[in-house]
Amino acid sequence: MLKRFFSYYIPYKKLFILDFSCAVIAALLELAFPLAVHRVVDDLLPSSNWSWIIWGCVSLLGIYIISAALHFVVTYWGHKLGINIESDMRKDLFTHVQKLSFRFFDNNKTGHLVSRMTNDLMDIGEIAHHGPEDLFIAIMTLTGAFAIMFSINWQLAVLTFIVVPLIISLSLYFSKKMSIAFRRFFADIADFNARVENNVSGMRVVQAFANEEHEIAQFNENNGRFRDSKLIAYRIMAWNSSISYILMKIVTLFVLLCGAWFVINKDMTNGEFIAFVLLSNVFLGPIKQINGVIEMYPKGIAGFKRFVEMLETAPDVADAKDAIAVQHLEGNINYQDVSFGYEGKENVLETINLTIRAGETVALVGPSGAGKTTICSLLPRFYDINSGSVLIDGIETRQMTLASLRSQIGIVQQDVFLFDGTIRENIAYGKLGASEEDIWEAARRAQLEDVILAQSEGLDTLIGERGVKMSGGQKQRLSIARMFLKNPSILILDEATSALDTETEAAIQQALTDLSKGRTTLVIAHRLATIKNADRIVVVTEDGIVEQGSHHELLAVKGAYHRLHEAQFSSR
Ligand code: ADP
Ligand code: MG
Repeated sequence: MLKRFFSYYIPYKKLFILDFSCAVIAALLELAFPLAVHRVVDDLLPSSNWSWIIWGCVSLLGIYIISAALHFVVTYWGHKLGINIESDMRKDLFTHVQKLSFRFFDNNKTGHLVSRMTNDLMDIGEIAHHGPEDLFIAIMTLTGAFAIMFSINWQLAVLTFIVVPLIISLSLYFSKKMSIAFRRFFADIADFNARVENNVSGMRVVQAFANEEHEIAQFNENNGRFRDSKLIAYRIMAWNSSISYILMKIVTLFVLLCGAWFVINKDMTNGEFIAFVLLSNVFLGPIKQINGVIEMYPKGIAGFKRFVEMLETAPDVADAKDAIAVQHLEGNINYQDVSFGYEGKENVLETINLTIRAGETVALVGPSGAGKTTICSLLPRFYDINSGSVLIDGIETRQMTLASLRSQIGIVQQDVFLFDGTIRENIAYGKLGASEEDIWEAARRAQLEDVILAQSEGLDTLIGERGVKMSGGQKQRLSIARMFLKNPSILILDEATSALDTETEAAIQQALTDLSKGRTTLVIAHRLATIKNADRIVVVTEDGIVEQGSHHELLAVKGAYHRLHEAQFSSR
């Protein structure tokens, strides 16, 4: 894990070296100050030479100015280093999340993912900046201070330093406790985010059911847990800082007391005494620094662990090593003995066999939950099958790169997902960078032209989050326009019009028929006219594919299709 952490420094080697060396020089200057005072008190003061004293002060001023400049570098460029590393980690995480498969998103909450991308990495930049630097400087300053104190009065130096390991081991003890506390804290904040995300995106349902009080109660529970876990972490932190503070002050008192004794006994000069007291404070600095790193570390590292965990989640659907990028598919589809199940639902499809010729329109019909949508989602490899094979144009889909395979398949679903943005952006999502004419052409073919022209902003009309500012029919037309631009060889229409009223449905049907022209089309529909128009009807039930044929053929068999027909369509 440390190796992975430090790999993020590689692009910023120069920045790191600059920041690091400035911090080291600043620390050395800090160390030199007590020595300078020591010389002033013991050598310059007794000489009563004013010009020397003024010269001494002027050079000290010079040193302070240099120190200030160094501190600027460390604060600004050091944080720049940390922020860059943090943002690189975010980028890697986001990139990785794009590759994760449907199965992953089925089983993880949106709020959790957002939380990992934002909060979890918030402290890692601080760690990246301060961690190695502070630790190195602290150790260097401690060693330096000890060496100088030792040379002045070794007995007192040894006595003073006995307390150092005590404070550090105490900090380590607290750090461990805090690490656990912060891990819980991040888990709670993720839950909290998930709760808020769920509430806000479902606000229309919440208000329609007038369940605000219930939502608030649930929120309070999450909020309370989040507050408590944060409080626990801070309590440990408070114990740690109070105990180390009192220990450090006891050291200073101790140095004052012993030092005074040495001075009175003429074993130490005044200058040495002052230098000693000042140095004992200089060395308290690094202990504070180490303490700070130890305090910050668990928080940053808890987030980093969650980050690594996520990066190491391998996508369960990925390109094969020797995957080929298919250029164009005719659209001959072949399911051979395909078996598939979801997590916790193992036998959704068992040894399914289905052949669809290029250009053919096949209607999948059957009861809800039979597996029609599932059959379709196997084609673009949203999920990988357990056994058997899915072939397009005789090539196994697993042999194709996901990008090339998916570029050939278009899906129009019942619930359209639109992105927050303009009509133009949402249509152009089908073919990024599409020209103005192409967008209008797609809109026209999807019968969306009039809708767009009726808006004052035209193509630049904002449609709201998930397209809330559009009607169901308009949203569906937009998703069809998107598909005209994408122009795939294979088209899947999964109950594309089921959510619409009959009139809107009839209007959109024309666009869909136009869209399916010249493409292999799999259509899942409830509307008899759509089903009748298909070249072939495939009946899917819990037992798999049970019948295939034309409308009249299947009715004549008086089997599953006949029963379905009686139940679903006789009333229309
Ligand atoms: P249909 O489209 O024929 O109505 P589906 O293919 O959507 O049926 O569903 C088939 C079965 O698989 C159902 O029992 C459903 O509960 C289950 N299922 C569908 N999607 C998932 C999923 N993402 N995770 C787990 N089970 C699922
Ligand atoms: Mg379905």
